[in-house]
Amino acid sequence: MNLVLLGLPGAGKGTQAGLLADKYNIPHISTGDMFREAVKNETPLGKKAKEYMDAGELVPDEVTIGIVQERLAQKDCEAGFILDGFPRTIPQAKALDEVLMELEQQLDLALLIAAPEEELIKRLTGRRVCQDCGATFHVDFAPPEEEGICDECGGKLEQRDDDKPETVKRRLEVSREKTDKLVDYYKRQDLLAKIDARGEILEINQQIQDLLEDAGDDN
Ligand SMILES: [Zn+2]
Repeated sequence: MNLVLLGLPGAGKGTQAGLLADKYNIPHISTGDMFREAVKNETPLGKKAKEYMDAGELVPDEVTIGIVQERLAQKDCEAGFILDGFPRTIPQAKALDEVLMELEQQLDLALLIAAPEEELIKRLTGRRVCQDCGATFHVDFAPPEEEGICDECGGKLEQRDDDKPETVKRRLEVSREKTDKLVDYYKRQDLLAKIDARGEILEINQQIQDLLEDAGDDN
């Protein structure tokens, strides 16, 4: 199953992708995680990516496409994959089509996870991440036992630069413009499905599984 998840930041793409990856035993490929890893390790690509992320801008296509291309060619993607955070632009979507064609694969579904903007702002600005182990908390939805301290390891919780309010609003604005174009792109290819991001995580995941099984029945 070759799946692309679409949606604005905060819609829960990463969470849903992780659950689906476990369920179907295929890799969850998050460009966000790949970039954060590169930033943390201060690789040349990471330094470049950080400049854009700090400014609330998206990382340029040629950088992103190169990373994803290498990843999809790896053996664990033969049975399928879930792309989360890629493609973000029409050139990226076209590049993905080409990469898949070379690999003699094709996309099965592009799934849009949709939520109202005010909900996304609340979700994103409340997120806190452990500096030591990377565990994620939320001041409203998943607060730690003790404010500012990681439940898992006792590390310090911080707000990522790209979760600060001004950056969040800018990210959503940039992202909505691009997502709308991708939605049209996949709609034209008859690959688009849509799911409401509001509600219980596991319920939403079940809805997605039902939808994937329906899509599978059509083939
Ligand atoms: Zn921790």
